[in-house]
Amino acid sequence: MKLAEILGQERATTHLRQSMQQDRLAHGLIFSGPLGVGKRSTALALARALFCTQNPNEGCDGCEDCHLVEAGTHPNLLIQDMARAREEKSTASQISIAQIRRLRSDLALQGVRGRRKVAILEPAEKLTADAQNALLKTLEEPPAGCVLILVSNNADALLPTIRSRCQRVLFSPLTPSDIANILERRGSSTAEAESIAAIAGGSLQEAERLSSEESQEQSLHIRSRLDELPGLPLTDVLDFAAELASGKGEERRDRMTLQGTIFLDWARSRMKEAADVGDPERTRASLQILKRIHGTTRDLNHYANAQLTWESLLLDLRQMRG
Ligand SMILES: [Zn+2]
Repeated sequence: MKLAEILGQERATTHLRQSMQQDRLAHGLIFSGPLGVGKRSTALALARALFCTQNPNEGCDGCEDCHLVEAGTHPNLLIQDMARAREEKSTASQISIAQIRRLRSDLALQGVRGRRKVAILEPAEKLTADAQNALLKTLEEPPAGCVLILVSNNADALLPTIRSRCQRVLFSPLTPSDIANILERRGSSTAEAESIAAIAGGSLQEAERLSSEESQEQSLHIRSRLDELPGLPLTDVLDFAAELASGKGEERRDRMTLQGTIFLDWARSRMKEAADVGDPERTRASLQILKRIHGTTRDLNHYANAQLTWESLLLDLRQMRG
């Protein structure tokens, strides 16, 4: 992606473009902002802008440097992330000091394609304290032409000494219309893109998860169960609760978050329907249902007994709709 193709982060991209044009881009940058809003894509776009020979400071569609960055094989682009950490140790949960040492020696070598080098560390908050300390030396005396980009969802967790040596570039959550645009560009229908964007919480990553086939199927299933709720026998309601609460650990937490979003989305669309037909009684009832769901889903992951929580919510909803 070129810098101009990054959506929804005009403040960040304009700042980077101007810094390059005025030849005062910092050697150390922290790209700071929520997960899934385009920080890594922007880091790669910045690498293209810096390496590009046809359209410097921007990136083009024709030159070899741009193609190599896009293919992930540019020799002057150095990336240390969790994928690299796991190549070395399959159970790795942090970016190690060994990775930073390797990066330092790669940066010290003469560039294969010009002097410019770009290093991307992601997510920077996963660097061990030792790794961060090893990186300090590079930030203090950066080799000429090097730009280090620390991509972080939690920049405040970085060592203060790292933060003070880098310039922070802020990324904002994406607006629903930015996300809908991106999904449409990737082939979603307008209606689908808008409904997913509305519940993705400003994160493209979340939107991608919600638009996966598995999530779509789950969503249809839950919505039809909720529609049938007033007529469901008690045993079926309890089975539905057990199904919602199944699984464990992180996988269940993720699933419960998704389920909560589907419940809320279902309640919102009911409210919209009621408002569209101008039925104040139904609108009021739908609002009560929405509030009841919101009260539960807000803290879904903090309840000790997920099954009981779902049971009590479903039984309330069945009664409210009866
Ligand atoms: Zn180019």
